[in-house]
Amino acid sequence: MPSIFTHAIFATAVGKSFIHALVSVRFWVLTALCSILPDADVLGFAFGIRYGSLFGHRGITHSIAFAVLVGVVVALFAFRGTQAALSTRALIIYFTLVTLSHPLLDAMTDGGSGVALFAPFSTGRYFLPWRPIRVSPIGMRFFSERGLETLESEMVWVWLPSLLLCLAAWLYHKTKQAWFSH
Ligand SMILES: [Zn+2]
Repeated sequence: MPSIFTHAIFATAVGKSFIHALVSVRFWVLTALCSILPDADVLGFAFGIRYGSLFGHRGITHSIAFAVLVGVVVALFAFRGTQAALSTRALIIYFTLVTLSHPLLDAMTDGGSGVALFAPFSTGRYFLPWRPIRVSPIGMRFFSERGLETLESEMVWVWLPSLLLCLAAWLYHKTKQAWFSH
């Protein structure tokens, strides 16, 4: 996995670039949480679940089906009683994509096992054809030289593009505003 901060940074940056509606803090907290949720499966290691099993790391929680499930649950329940700036359908699509951003980033890492994108229908593990991101060590091993190397690669391949995307979206928005105000 890229480290969890990187997942959160990426999802929030993409979200910020495309969502211009006035949304609540809860919306952004949920964006960060959904983007790291798939890695809850590392808890399975403590229970002796094998890496390669359906419930192992990068298994079912890294699938499209899981992302859709999270999208639906968050859209239906997390905004109850609040004045949501987006329709339920838009929320479902948004939080599905946010959750899905996690396995897609994982699929761009150079190590570990691929992601079970089509679970539970297929147990196949997949990587994207382009895998520039150094895989992050799991747990405390993150605080090592190897961890630093990972961080550097994540900065180059995820943080920087995220920042550039935000900047481009902001510029586009400003230009559009200036254009229409004349
Ligand atoms: Zn992951």
